[in-house]
Amino acid sequence: MSAAEPSRDSRDACLRADESDPLAQFRAEFSLPEGVIYLDGNSLGARPRAAAERAREVLEQEWGHDLIGSWNKHHWFDLPVRIGAKVARLVGGDAGECVVTDTTSINIFKTLSAALDLQRDADPSRRIIVSERENFPTDLYVAEGLIRLLDRGYELRLIDDPAELGAALGSDVAVALLTQVNYRSGELWDMGAATELVHAAGALVIWDLCHSAGAVPINLSAANADFAVGCTYKYLNGGPGSPAFVWIAERHLAEARQPLSGWWGHARPFEMRPEFAAAEGARRFLSGTQPILSLATAEVGIDIALRVDEDAVREKSLALTELFMRLVETRLAHHPLTLITPTDPARRGSHVSYRHPEGFAVMKALIAEGVIGDYREPGVLRFGIAPLYVGYADVWDAVETLRLVLDEERWRAPEFQVRGAVT
Ligand SMILES: *Cc1c(COP(=O)(O)O)cnc(C)c1O
Repeated sequence: MSAAEPSRDSRDACLRADESDPLAQFRAEFSLPEGVIYLDGNSLGARPRAAAERAREVLEQEWGHDLIGSWNKHHWFDLPVRIGAKVARLVGGDAGECVVTDTTSINIFKTLSAALDLQRDADPSRRIIVSERENFPTDLYVAEGLIRLLDRGYELRLIDDPAELGAALGSDVAVALLTQVNYRSGELWDMGAATELVHAAGALVIWDLCHSAGAVPINLSAANADFAVGCTYKYLNGGPGSPAFVWIAERHLAEARQPLSGWWGHARPFEMRPEFAAAEGARRFLSGTQPILSLATAEVGIDIALRVDEDAVREKSLALTELFMRLVETRLAHHPLTLITPTDPARRGSHVSYRHPEGFAVMKALIAEGVIGDYREPGVLRFGIAPLYVGYADVWDAVETLRLVLDEERWRAPEFQVRGAVT
């Protein structure tokens, strides 16, 4: 498919693109219901078929048969570190810099606290945390909670656009908490350039990779980042609520202290001593006993991500998001859909979002037709493109179904006006 030939777009052309897709074989590794086009892998990734077998093994053999001996026999105790080393490879880090544990929210708390602590030692007058007004809310909520807890006069300074970063950075800034791909708009930061700006101001940066890990090539070391956190249940297909990851640049590891200093982060947890001594490496960012079942399924998704060529993933992701935008522009132009995703490929992650005045009901009606995207306030329809299991014809069919829902105003049906707890 070529952007230069929009008139050539057709379902047949999409089918041909699927046939020559170098990532096509990965579709069979995921279990998706018949008749569903799944465009929500940026919220909950699809289930790798192998995850069922792995979960059964942990339940029946490891837990059911080997019982508590599994902490050693099946290396449960090392899972957060072993899987962390794999994630490190995905995000351009070294094995000892990353662990998979807890939630992204909790890991933001730990890394922000650690970064503020490092800065307090270096220059206690820095009291500003720069972040984004449009950031995923939990990032801001956790920062607020920590600010209140520390009670040292820290303040959030929120920017509305990546272009405002430079102006927001001064000698009063301690830390920048930035999200590489915006969850709503899909806008992508230039991580290297932004990190350089933050460092030039004497501040540290924490990157939230929730919407980029598994979808966008990431190299934290090349970008010279300080800390990073991210989900494994989105593009890494780890399973509902699978533990997040936390990455700490090697140069900070010896000094970085996190406040949830539980026994799993202790250098010698089974000595059961009354005083805390932090473990070497990223293990010190663990707190308590880990969810082994969720770690086990997370590893299955991460192992798939390690087998794919990340450049091929990026190329297909950009081709599919571009196709989606082009089809909406050419075939749905008569509807009030406002694109909020950057069209510049250098500034776009792996999802496409539109505002529509009846966004919530439109998404409900679309889901009823088997095209699963999601809805985010205010009025935003989100379409996540996970290149490992979404194809060109899927995009064609999804846009055609959206056209049907809008042309026939199917969203007006009363059942599509009611909201559940999760949208
Ligand atoms: C999905 C997402 C989160 C989710 O955090 P949890 O603690 O796993 O609920 C956080 N930040 C960003 C940017 C996200 O996209």
